[in-house]
Amino acid sequence: MFENLQDRLGTILNGLTGRGALSDADVAAAMREVRRALIEADVSLDVVRSFTDKVRAKAVGADVLKSIKPGQMVVKIVHDELVDMLGAEGVAIDLNAPAPVIIMMVGLQGSGKTTTSAKIAKRLTDRQGKKVLMASLDTRRPAAQEQLRQLGEQTKVSTLPIIAGQSPVEIARRAEQAGRLGGYDVVILDTAGRTHIDEPLMVEMADIKSAARPHEILLVADSLTGQDAVNLARNFDERVGITGLVLTRMDGDGRGGAALSMRAVTGKPIKLIGTGEKMDALEEFFPKRIADRILG
Ligand code: GDP
Repeated sequence: MFENLQDRLGTILNGLTGRGALSDADVAAAMREVRRALIEADVSLDVVRSFTDKVRAKAVGADVLKSIKPGQMVVKIVHDELVDMLGAEGVAIDLNAPAPVIIMMVGLQGSGKTTTSAKIAKRLTDRQGKKVLMASLDTRRPAAQEQLRQLGEQTKVSTLPIIAGQSPVEIARRAEQAGRLGGYDVVILDTAGRTHIDEPLMVEMADIKSAARPHEILLVADSLTGQDAVNLARNFDERVGITGLVLTRMDGDGRGGAALSMRAVTGKPIKLIGTGEKMDALEEFFPKRIADRILG
């Protein structure tokens, strides 16, 4: 295992108490360790850079050397800054719009979109008594539509009947109409992904957005995404305009750096995290927990 940041900074800084000010060399050495810890946690490089700049400014300004353990104090500055950058905890899905409220799920193939759609539908049904309709707009993989239908059956959430040959936009319109006529509170649109971002995917997402006018657009992303996290989040946000993030596979052994990267480039709240394959493995986001995890 990696030596944690506290130990590393302790080695560098704890012998320096009582000297008045940190030298440039001490600060540089400490920031190198901070940078190393974040890169090991899979935070994107440009986010690491802006983060260490902020921490450096605070560490130089703070009375680091007056504290008994300067290493610990820098760790606290790093931790606080991480929590701050990760954003608020417990930001709920916004249902404050005329029914049916449309939630559009976007993301790459395999990120956990379909699973998360069903988890969210179940959560809104069980906890908030909402009447939810789910629709799969994935016309590229017929198995995807069937997968959502089965998850609907399993969670006792309605799914839009599958009609072969319809385009994603046609399905989105039909879902909105079925939601309206059927007295549903929420309609969740599970869109198709790709293995990587490409132009047709972005055009398809934009077309669905114009047709369905979703109130929430949630980017579902695998928390194990490494350096691609920034590109992924930036592209979806610039081209489609997301309202929030859901990070899946937080039950894995990744350190969750993607959370910081995606939040940093989009400024959008992390609304929920996926913590397993089961339908109730969906939790609220607590920035402190992720900060602890990033620091190891
Ligand atoms: P999609 O292609 O984006 O719709 O992805 P799926 O919803 O089909 O998910 C792909 C795989 O990831 C499935 O086997 C899911 O059970 C699994 N999965 C989704 N979310 C999580 C999660 O939070 N934790 C774990 N361990 N597995 C997940």
